[in-house]
Amino acid sequence: MPAAVKPDLAFTREILGLGAGDLGSCYQCGTCSVVCPISPPDNPFPRKEMIWVQWGLKERALANSSIWLCHQCATCTTYCPRDAKPASVMAALRDASIAHYAAPAFMGRALADPRALPLLFAIPAVIFLVLLAWLGHLGSLPEGRIVFSKFIPILYIEGIFVAFMALAVLGALVGGVRYWRAMSRQMGGDGGGPQRALMPTVLTILRHRTFSECASHAPGERRTHKGHLHRTHLAVFYGFLGLVVTTTSVGIGIYAFGYLTPWPLWHPVKLLGNVSGLAVIAALAVFAYRRIADGERAGKSTYSDWLFLAILLLTTVTGFLTQALRLADLPRLAYPMYVVHLILIFFLLVYIPYSKFAHLVYRTVAMLYAASRTRAAEAR
Ligand code: SF4
Ligand code: SF4
Repeated sequence: MPAAVKPDLAFTREILGLGAGDLGSCYQCGTCSVVCPISPPDNPFPRKEMIWVQWGLKERALANSSIWLCHQCATCTTYCPRDAKPASVMAALRDASIAHYAAPAFMGRALADPRALPLLFAIPAVIFLVLLAWLGHLGSLPEGRIVFSKFIPILYIEGIFVAFMALAVLGALVGGVRYWRAMSRQMGGDGGGPQRALMPTVLTILRHRTFSECASHAPGERRTHKGHLHRTHLAVFYGFLGLVVTTTSVGIGIYAFGYLTPWPLWHPVKLLGNVSGLAVIAALAVFAYRRIADGERAGKSTYSDWLFLAILLLTTVTGFLTQALRLADLPRLAYPMYVVHLILIFFLLVYIPYSKFAHLVYRTVAMLYAASRTRAAEAR
């Protein structure tokens, strides 16, 4: 007896509204799955996702590793004879999956809704303004040379971030486990766990091997408008990593060695921070330009795409502005800019499991799941 299909048409409408408006043109020829440079033979994509979304098969579409194994190279969109933009459908499914697996669920909805943006900014703004009022620095600035730790002691900042980042890590863990379990239910066994697949997956991510496969295995001569992706993602990835290493090194310097900030510009950690920040800004400028220039051909960008780009860019730019205003000895501008920078860092890091930044979590989980299944199949 054939299995009954229970369509969820609200889900289909949701995906259509997330930049996948050409979905209905698909006539299931399968060209997209054939030309995709990284589509695996045992679970090819994105043709099946096209029909699953058309039929409203929400669980099947979201509980599959394919949506996160896709690296958005747009080769499928370039070769689709119906201009159905399968790459945009995959991107929409990723957006929907972040909200679907979010813990707590309201955070997933909030990050996907422009109307919630003021509230999301208000949370860190209120926290830092209340702290400043309590420290007595809302109306008066510290005297003398600009030292940000005189304005807000580093211990308070770290206390706030450690507490909220613990919540973010918990949210990311719960979301990742939900996704893993959903894949296990829909796709079958995972080969006994991710432990043995962990190191190869981490190396694949660090080397950006899948991005380079997207470029090197692309068929034919057609231009995909995503040829920059490997280099640009590499720059933003290692730039961001450099900023994380910088911040961590400053913390270690202060607490382990009593080496208080501000550190001189020539200090290696400071140099790493500035070079990393410039790499992030340059990569984000390329991403923003290509999203605008190639929107029609490669697929339109969504609210979550632009929100992520804007927050990451503003965080990095305000970091540079804070440093420049301190060096220019302009306390009335430097201290408020520092607070804006802290608010943006909070937005960027604490909301990681619910924004487009959640690809860090879900793509890693999907890659681990796929790698452990492959290992299990090879062992049989
Ligand atoms: S998305 Fe395009 S290439 Fe893929 S199956 Fe549909 S019509 Fe064919
Ligand atoms: S965007 Fe690239 S990786 Fe994703 S399905 Fe299309 S061809 Fe494959």
